[in-house]
Amino acid sequence: MSNPRIFQNLIGGTFLPSRSGQTFERRNPADTRDIVGVFQESNAEDVDVAVAAAKAAFPTWSQIPAPRRGEILLRAATILEARKERYSHDLTREMGKPLFEAGGDIVEAIGMAQYAGGEGRRMHGVTTPSEMPNKFQMSIRQPLGVVGLITPWNFPMAIASWKMLPALVAGNTVVIKPGEDAAVSTYNLVEALMEAGLPPGVVNIVTGYGPGAGQPLVEHPDVPLISFTGSTTTGRLVYELGARQIKRVSLEMGGKNPLIVMPDADMDLVMQGVVWAAFGTTGQRCTATSRLIVHKDVAEPLVARIIERAQHLRVGNGLHPATEMGPLVNEKQMQRVLGYIELGQQEGATLRCGGGRMSEGDLAHGWFVQPTVFTGVTPQMRIAREEIFGPVLSVIEVASLEEAIAVANDVAYGLSASIYTRDINAAYRAMLALQAGIVYINAPTIGAEIHLPFGGVKATGNGHREAGPTMLDVFSEWKSVYVDFSGSLQRAQIDNVG
Ligand code: NDP
Repeated sequence: MSNPRIFQNLIGGTFLPSRSGQTFERRNPADTRDIVGVFQESNAEDVDVAVAAAKAAFPTWSQIPAPRRGEILLRAATILEARKERYSHDLTREMGKPLFEAGGDIVEAIGMAQYAGGEGRRMHGVTTPSEMPNKFQMSIRQPLGVVGLITPWNFPMAIASWKMLPALVAGNTVVIKPGEDAAVSTYNLVEALMEAGLPPGVVNIVTGYGPGAGQPLVEHPDVPLISFTGSTTTGRLVYELGARQIKRVSLEMGGKNPLIVMPDADMDLVMQGVVWAAFGTTGQRCTATSRLIVHKDVAEPLVARIIERAQHLRVGNGLHPATEMGPLVNEKQMQRVLGYIELGQQEGATLRCGGGRMSEGDLAHGWFVQPTVFTGVTPQMRIAREEIFGPVLSVIEVASLEEAIAVANDVAYGLSASIYTRDINAAYRAMLALQAGIVYINAPTIGAEIHLPFGGVKATGNGHREAGPTMLDVFSEWKSVYVDFSGSLQRAQIDNVG
């Protein structure tokens, strides 16, 4: 491509180059000859200007009645729906997942626009009776101000929408720093919002690298909330930096998600579920199944079927309609995954399928790795404990439900977990005991819907739940209001602690 598209920062409704004049290129991970776009390499100065624009837009935006703000989101949902094909194509080209999966990303954004848009007419507060006569009390939601959003590349439209749309309907204005590998989808989401009537300055986009553009946003004194999705290592730093200014920080981080299989499970169902949860999005989902914890009585025949299917997955450029699994997002990620495959062998696990880079024919210009399965994995091995974020499945055999749950819980993370069984008692025991924010019964570890709380425990999250009815708790402040119309200072009021 001779003239790649140039993306400028969107600040106050105007497209602007970075103050430093620096830019960076993004190439299609399935074919690095294809330049997806040129983006601004922003720094603290750009972030300053973007935050100032969002701050200037806040008084007007926050005064627009919430139902009217919601209507803009609902109109954006319709625009996203009409553009699904184009936006899916852009998404596949920038981060590699096959078109059918990219379509899912757009559908999540549509769903969130509808859900958050509807919230404009609810945004429920609380009223309670007072202890005293002639006194009324309630608690209402208010926006925080300028919120800073930092997103990863793996669900570039869905995750941006989970954060941006609840933030907007609650009355906040936004500065977003998208993942450097997949910023186009953020531009597409904001394009739909602006066409739906979002005023200039309400959402501002600053592209760039994490330390150069993300960190100044985290550290900016005029940004009271940071909502971050990404790795646990970066999230920990964001949390520490935010804590210094007593900011609200909402973190969604890594996973090492277990899928438990009991001997009475429907093995056809398990096989299909595992293949898509382990190798879908090339394993680059925070909810990907990376540990198959299977009862020893049924392990070998199940593994043989999974391997058979994995070896026949059609790996290639996601823009080809037949492709089932795309590339890894960049060379660094590919090297990291290959490094873990090497490590698994050194640790003594048995490499049963895959394990190598794919670079023949059309794959020569991309970052492709074979779907890979390890058996003989023990819970202490690093491939059983660390997030690989690639198409690598570690199979761990166990002898009982209790052991399966103990192994499942024995990692730092706790995002998604699953159990396949026909025994309702076993299902309920696992559901309660699994240390995870999301549990699936007879379904794989993927497939969350936007209208339930989403998030994890332990090193995956810090207790916030974006999406679902809890999303407004992240993006709004409670204000409790007491109205005393008794005309006198009531004695009980003086005695109360607060
Ligand atoms: P990273 O942590 O590398 O990056 C996430 C975002 O943070 C990017 O925008 C990145 O910028 C930015 N960033 C990097 N350094 C800093 C910094 N010092 N200050 C502020 N921002 C910074 O994660 P990835 O993008 O590689 O995404 C993959 C990770 O995300 C996986 O661990 C995965 O599990 C997790 N994830 C979690 C989800 C969940 O809901 N729990 C959902 C999806 C993914 P840049 O792009 O320039 O590096």
